Amino acid sequence: MIIDQNTIKNQIEGKNKIFEPLLSVKNISVSYGGIKALKGISFDVFPGQVVAIIGANGAGKTTTLNAISGLVKIQSGEIIYKKERISGLQPDLIVRKGVVHVPEGRRIFPNLTVHENLRLAAYIYSREEYTTFQGKLEEVFSKFPRLKERQNQLGGTLSGGEQQMLAIARALITGGDIMLMDEPSMGLAPVLVKEIFSIIRDINKSGKTILLVEQNARMALRLANYCYVLENGIISFSGTPEEIMGNKKVVEAYLGGS
Ligand code: ATP
Repeated sequence: MIIDQNTIKNQIEGKNKIFEPLLSVKNISVSYGGIKALKGISFDVFPGQVVAIIGANGAGKTTTLNAISGLVKIQSGEIIYKKERISGLQPDLIVRKGVVHVPEGRRIFPNLTVHENLRLAAYIYSREEYTTFQGKLEEVFSKFPRLKERQNQLGGTLSGGEQQMLAIARALITGGDIMLMDEPSMGLAPVLVKEIFSIIRDINKSGKTILLVEQNARMALRLANYCYVLENGIISFSGTPEEIMGNKKVVEAYLGGS
């Protein structure tokens, strides 16, 4: 179910508590040694939304996604998914619960073929569920015909855009209700950025909730229902894309002026 913007606004402002957030990040902090990467951030993601986190290099965007998927430990706060605390769980268990991460820099297996990369993504299916994998593979190949054509090619020999498609395809095979996407546009030519964003829009339309981290704020705002601005480990501003576009300081800092 996709929730309209007013309902979300009312929900966030506490006026109309009809929907529970799918994911709630509550006051989390993360430090790497002496470096405080996240200093107590909180936000909600509602079912069906695309929520974007924008911010400069080093603001803490990747750390936020890594904290949700259990790849880095949080020092305080908690993360709730479908009313259940997931902070502190092992990353594989978090995936099994339905929180799937498409990490920065693709992280595909360069020496495995496209098909092998996808097969590996299905590790959460048991042997008996092989038919489920086959079904999902067909679905993914219909979305990404380029990957179907290249299924026997080594991942490392794919172009940047194709590697990003493979990373998204892997996450679709894994399944889950929310996809955490880390800078899907990174290093891609503008025409490919458009293609990847249109794929993300389709995935969202088909019912998946998306938490998107992006430096390309302009593209992120076109897609998002709600946006958080992360600055040195704190959320400095949040709002609908219209509200973000109406904030002169944010526009100047992240959208290259008006
Ligand atoms: P970018 O857009 O450049 O990827 P980001 O917003 O995703 O940046 P993070 O990667 O989350 O930012 O980094 C936040 C801060 O934490 C930075 O100061 C970074 O140097 C630091 N940091 C991140 N990972 C580590 C690590 N493993 N060890 C030490 N410091 C780290």
